[in-house]
Amino acid sequence: MYDIIIIGAGTAGLSAAIYGVRAGKKVLVLESASYGGQIVTSPEVENYPGIKKISGFEFATNLYEQAMELGAEIEIARVTQIRKDGVQKIVVTEEKEYACRAVILASGAKNRPLGLAKEQELIGKGISYCATCDGAFYKGKPVAVNGGGNTALEDAAFLTGYCEKVYLIHRRDSFRGEHKQVEALRQKANLEFVLDTNIVKLIADERLKAIEVQNTKTKETRVIEVSGLFVAIGQMPENSAFSPPVQLDQAGYIIAGEDCKTNVDGIFAAGDCRTKTVRQLATAAADGAVAALAACEYIRA
Ligand code: NAP
Repeated sequence: MYDIIIIGAGTAGLSAAIYGVRAGKKVLVLESASYGGQIVTSPEVENYPGIKKISGFEFATNLYEQAMELGAEIEIARVTQIRKDGVQKIVVTEEKEYACRAVILASGAKNRPLGLAKEQELIGKGISYCATCDGAFYKGKPVAVNGGGNTALEDAAFLTGYCEKVYLIHRRDSFRGEHKQVEALRQKANLEFVLDTNIVKLIADERLKAIEVQNTKTKETRVIEVSGLFVAIGQMPENSAFSPPVQLDQAGYIIAGEDCKTNVDGIFAAGDCRTKTVRQLATAAADGAVAALAACEYIRA
C-alpha cells in the first residue's frame, strides 16, 4: 500500500515525487515509457529559473536522480484504469494492481500528428517528432520543420547546425514561440521561413522525398524536396484511461484548477495533462509541488 502513486515520470510527476517523499510519504511513480517526459527532447532549456542553460535530457536526468535518491520508487507500467475502493484508490496496470491513498495524474501529453496520408508509415523513414533524437540522421541533407511554437523554433535552430537547409513551415506569419528564438533564426543562412503555409501532402516511395505545401492566403502550392520532416505542431493529452472516474474537458485534458484537484477526492492532476493556459517546465514543476502537498493534506485529513 503506497501513500501516493504518481502516474507519469515527467517534470510534473518527478517534482511531485520529490515533494511527496520529502514529506515522509511512500511514493511510487508509474511510467509507461522512460523518465523525463517531453523536456527530454529539448536541446537547450534557457528559461527555467535558476538554471542559465541545460539540455532537456540533463535536466530530466537530474530530476529523476533527485527523486530516486530521496526514496521514490519507479516502475515501468502502463496504467489502464483507476478506481475507488472505499478511501483507497486502485491503480490498474497491464500487469497488476496497486493500492494507494492518493493518486497524482501527471501523464503529460503526446505529439500531435499532422493527420496526413502515409504519416504513420513514414515515421523513421523521413518523419520524426524529435529533432534531438533523429537530427543527426539528416546531416548535410535538406529538412523541414512544421510548427510555430517553441518546440519548432528550437528544433529548427538545432537542425541548422546539421542540415544543408532547413525550411521552417508555419501556418501563420507570426510565431507562438519566443521572439528571441525567431530573431536568432533570422540570422541563419541555411534557414528559410515558409509562412502562412500548411503541408498538404507527403511525397514518398520507401522514404519521404518531398512535401507539398499550400499558402493559406494565395492558395498556391509548392513542392519542397526534403529528406526529413520534423513535426512540431503541439501536443495532445492521453487521459482516457483515467476517465471515468476523472472528468476530462472536450479536448481530453483533466479538469483541474491551480489547486490541482480533480472532481474525485484524493485524485490530483499536475502539469500538461490538466486544463491550464501556460504549459512550461516551470509550471509543470510548480504543479508537481502543489499536487504533492495537496495529496499529503488529503491523506492527513
Ligand atoms: P505549441 O506551443 O502548442 O505550438 C504548436 C504550434 O503548432 C503552433 O504554432 C500552432 O499554430 C501549430 N499547429 C497546431 N496544430 C497544427 C496543425 N494541425 N497544423 C499546422 N500547425 C499546427 O506547442 P510546442 O511548441 O510543442 O510547445 C508546447 C509547450 O511547451 C508550450 O507551452 C511551449 O512554450 C513549451 N515549450 C517550452 C520549451 C522551453 O521552455 N525551452 C521548449 C519547447 C516547448 P498556431 O500558432 O497557429 O496555433
